[in-house]
Amino acid sequence: MQSVSEPTQQSSDLKESSPLWKKLLGSSITDAEALSKFCSYPLNVEELKKVIKKYPMSVNPYYLSLIEDVNDPIWKQCIPDVKELSEQNGVEDPLHEEVDSPVPGLTHRYPDRVLLLVSNQCGMYCRFCTRKRKVGDPFKRITKEQIMRGIEYIREHTEVRDVLLSGGDPFLLSDSYLEWILKEVRKISHVEVIRIGTRVPCTLPQRVTPELCSMLKKYHPLYINVHFNHPAEVTDASKMACEMLADVGIPLGNQSVLLKGVNDDPKVMKELVHKLLMMRVKPYYIYQADLVRGTNHFRTPVKTGIEIIRALRGHTSGMAVPHYIIDTPGGGGKIPLLPNYIVSKEKNKLTLTNYECRLFEYPDIDE
Ligand SMILES: *Cc1c(COP(=O)(O)O)cnc(C)c1O
Ligand code: SF4
Repeated sequence: MQSVSEPTQQSSDLKESSPLWKKLLGSSITDAEALSKFCSYPLNVEELKKVIKKYPMSVNPYYLSLIEDVNDPIWKQCIPDVKELSEQNGVEDPLHEEVDSPVPGLTHRYPDRVLLLVSNQCGMYCRFCTRKRKVGDPFKRITKEQIMRGIEYIREHTEVRDVLLSGGDPFLLSDSYLEWILKEVRKISHVEVIRIGTRVPCTLPQRVTPELCSMLKKYHPLYINVHFNHPAEVTDASKMACEMLADVGIPLGNQSVLLKGVNDDPKVMKELVHKLLMMRVKPYYIYQADLVRGTNHFRTPVKTGIEIIRALRGHTSGMAVPHYIIDTPGGGGKIPLLPNYIVSKEKNKLTLTNYECRLFEYPDIDE
């Protein structure tokens, strides 16, 4: 495996003045031939071409440089697998995001908050993505008109106090375009908090520039959820990106997806949550992988997620323990799952189990 950390030829076509992150994006591997040149391992180029035609690939030189071996946890997240086309399980839109959209690109599922898609591009296309049906497709770009309709909906719905900008990745937008969105949303007096979901601090940390940070800090209270799945994704560069965001006062959370062969192991997850706290990121959610067509090979049993929580709670800082969530198929929303700590209940006597599996009685009181 050749290590790639510098932008290659194509970047010389771009203007000298373009920032490093754009050069890196411009040097991404996007087709099967380029991939087979990078990889000494024989790949099924014809089959991969078909996969990429349906679900785009884009691996920038930074994320590519994190791969150490074929099929390692980084590889699995970014390199297409022929199984993506053969698997018939799952559906295109398992969370009914389109069904629950009053206007295109906006999902209003919970009483007081909405999800607004502002970009369909990402720093890298994750093979397990829930929005595989639309990310990276040049025909499914999100227009300014669509975003304006979403903002109009928020303005008309005074119950919305929390707006979650997502995608794709909002940080793939230019600073000025993202600022326009933030400014418009901030003008709405009933919107209390704005959240951004981004994977850029993990997949393209060079995108987090001082200019971006000084723009973002004007729109507080602003929260950011990042997306790291494996300790090998925590590097000096990603640490710097998270610290720059934290330094402008943005509280950072992390959302991971539980993925077979990547992080379905309590030891790996424990290392990850510790590394996250070291870069001032609070583990927020671990998601059970959604039932998305073409991602069945990533699915893990629910038992695995519960075991991970059991291995964390009590054994390490409470701050390091995320909630384990199933986002229910059909638009039921997020449901947290916990190990069962209540062993039995007899009248007012509760029997509880602690993290060491020792039993304790608790005298409850009458309601
Ligand atoms: C995940 C999600 C949210 C935010 O959920 P929280 O539990 O508040 O983080 C809001 N709307 C939709 C449609 C979502 O999928
Ligand atoms: S960064 Fe997020 S939206 Fe983009 S491909 Fe990965 S999981 Fe999907």
